[in-house]
Amino acid sequence: MKRRQLVTNAAIGGAIAATIGACGPASGPQVSADSLPNITWNMATSWPKSLETLFGTAELMTKRVAEMTNGRFKITPYAAGEIVGGLEVMDAVQTGSVQCGHSASYYYIGKNSALAFGTSIPFGLNAQQQNAWLYHGGGLELMQKIYATFGIINFPGGNSGAQMGGWYKKEVKTVADLQGLKMRIPGVGGKVMAKLGVNVQNIAGGEVYLALDRGAIDAAEWVGPFDDQKLGLNKAAKFYYYPGWWEPGPSFDFLINLSAWNQLPKEYQEVLKTATFESNLWSLAKYDVLNSQALTELISSGTILQPYSAEIMQAAQKATEELLNEEASKNPTFKEVYEQWKAFRQQIYQWNKINELSFSQFAFG
Ligand code: CA
Repeated sequence: MKRRQLVTNAAIGGAIAATIGACGPASGPQVSADSLPNITWNMATSWPKSLETLFGTAELMTKRVAEMTNGRFKITPYAAGEIVGGLEVMDAVQTGSVQCGHSASYYYIGKNSALAFGTSIPFGLNAQQQNAWLYHGGGLELMQKIYATFGIINFPGGNSGAQMGGWYKKEVKTVADLQGLKMRIPGVGGKVMAKLGVNVQNIAGGEVYLALDRGAIDAAEWVGPFDDQKLGLNKAAKFYYYPGWWEPGPSFDFLINLSAWNQLPKEYQEVLKTATFESNLWSLAKYDVLNSQALTELISSGTILQPYSAEIMQAAQKATEELLNEEASKNPTFKEVYEQWKAFRQQIYQWNKINELSFSQFAFG
């Protein structure tokens, strides 16, 4: 037994020596850690620092990059308003005033409506399906093609899971109740609400509470129980609706200036990609834990939960389909992504109806 161990150890030792030899000085140029440069970047984000979920995801990414490069590649994340406003992150990355950013693609649908797919589409994909589409369903390639036209490369950077349907000062039961209501809701969800008669406002997260509390708006959606409570939205409105049919699994994005990206050593590009993967997983797991705890707190402190009525849900679904078709007829890029995405959605819905939904309905439905 002892002899056999020795033989095995010797064999392993030999294999290691052979591997080292193959990569030794005689085999060509070496990349040594010493040759990797010190690089300092700034990251603009769309989030207030108080949100340990969203700003926390940006912080985690930068921390992991520093750790994986032994402190040589330093990225400093800035809260919304510190360098640029929360909804100006893409512009700042595009012009190169910062090298990178953390934001949500659908804040920028004014630049190209197809950017909405990078975050979430009403009645679209849940978080698991969104990650499947991005990483293995061709979605990320499509989104990167669009971002490249703005001189940016993007990577998924977090997901909140299915969001809540927002805070209302008064109950809304019918589509008639939505007429003229001033609501903070961005992206395609906002466009659908506009079709239903809502007066839609796009306001950065840090400013939502004041707008709702002072009555400048009548309703606001942000994310879910944890983030909404942190912003104090429960103190400005009592009725908390669900589900957030416009954001069943929204992704956040890291945006990187393409020329800054191209100047990075290959090793740093790989480190960045790895850190975005890690942040993406970390964020969703964190949200699921914090949201479930925060919902219990909200209910016990007086928040009234209300489901959207079937009338509103059905009208919203119909308006969404009309809107997506209208947009596809206006914007060829939107059409290209929409058709690919729609086929993916149909396929994943069929599969998840069998495995995920049947289990969920039985276990906690
Ligand atoms: Ca939202």
